Amino acid sequence: MISTAKADALIAEAYAAQNRTHPTERLPLAQAVGRILDVDVVADRDQPPFHRVAMDGIALALPGDSAPLPARVRLDGRLWPGISTPEGPARPAPGNAIEVMTGAALPEPWNTVIPVEDLTEDREDNGDYRTIRSGTRIVPGMNIHVRASDYRQGDPLFSRGTVITPPHIHVLASVGWDPVPVVAMPRIALVSTGDELVPVRETPLPHQIRMSNLPAIEACLAAARLPVGSTTHLPDDPDALHAGLRAALAAHDVVITSGGVSKGSRDFLPATLEALGCVRVFHGVAHKPGKPLWFGVAETGALVFALPGNPVSSLVCFVRYVSPLLRCWGRPYDGAGPFTLPLAGDTTAHPSFTLFLPASRARRPDGSPTIGPRKSAGSGNFAGLVPSDGFVEIPAGAGTLSAGTPVPFFPWTL
Ligand code: AMP
Ligand code: MG
Repeated sequence: MISTAKADALIAEAYAAQNRTHPTERLPLAQAVGRILDVDVVADRDQPPFHRVAMDGIALALPGDSAPLPARVRLDGRLWPGISTPEGPARPAPGNAIEVMTGAALPEPWNTVIPVEDLTEDREDNGDYRTIRSGTRIVPGMNIHVRASDYRQGDPLFSRGTVITPPHIHVLASVGWDPVPVVAMPRIALVSTGDELVPVRETPLPHQIRMSNLPAIEACLAAARLPVGSTTHLPDDPDALHAGLRAALAAHDVVITSGGVSKGSRDFLPATLEALGCVRVFHGVAHKPGKPLWFGVAETGALVFALPGNPVSSLVCFVRYVSPLLRCWGRPYDGAGPFTLPLAGDTTAHPSFTLFLPASRARRPDGSPTIGPRKSAGSGNFAGLVPSDGFVEIPAGAGTLSAGTPVPFFPWTL
């Protein structure tokens, strides 16, 4: 049995070795947050594309640093966003100003904006005047967002592989990328196994149970906006498993199975996957729950995660090993990326198994966050997970971790 760290490393290695060219899809820009940009983005124009007025106020045309500053100016024009030249004078008259609004494109030689906050209005019969509050510091060029000061036309902005965040959307929109090319999601197949299982909407006989592993995993995928390509249930029968798994492997990038990977004489998954040409990378990890986890790579390059059927094991293994990889799809896998939170109380590690303990978030009296693990209710008791927010990872052989020790925390929902 290998350690969790070794399992992480082997998964990362298998993913990197796939070396596949991920297909591109074009998404409406508003749906692209969290996706991976699949194009190098270059500025199509300067940003801002003109000297942008940054405050509502008045604009002056000051000749230079040493110019005497007027205390009172007459307004002889107006400039608002969306018009190309001021309404009023074609050129500034000495001592005059124009009224300007935030967002307007300020033409030369107007070069300085004084905000309304520093002005008082005085209208006279012969015109509209503004008095500049005494003590106002006036610097030529002030309150103007200078053309091309953010970036210039032709500047490289983002490279392929960038994870898109809302600020990226602003920039992508401003350079006209809608729809935007992103790395396509993996094609994911879900396969459950077990003769005792009936579909959720059916009434089980006394010796049967409703299948709940796939709905829980499917819900995690849906929450992460990862589409599921196919969902199948297969009986514990070698021929049926062979045919069903072959179909799943042929048409998907990632195959996630549930059940049939431990030591029972009707646990056919490992042998069937290997007979189908999958290379076993590991079978068995020194963690609890989920010891029998199997991971391999199909001849097609598909990654196969065969999760133990015990409901707690399947969900924990999915959240711990599969979900972080899927969320990295299309860029280098940086390993599991959990939060780290300080333990609420002393917690004893297992001497040889990494423990995944259900845990709830809490706050210390000073308001700082902590995570409080509970004793596992067992790998079959999925109802026992309900009061938790996720699980913490307590490394094997760590002795007793005292309260306050930071530990990795994997929330059920991100
Ligand atoms: P297995 O890993 O196939 O030996 O299954 C271990 C335990 O998990 C058994 O009690 C199964 O009935 C249960 N189990 C397996 N698959 C599911 C499932 N999809 N939903 C609920 N329980 C399951
Ligand atoms: Mg089974």
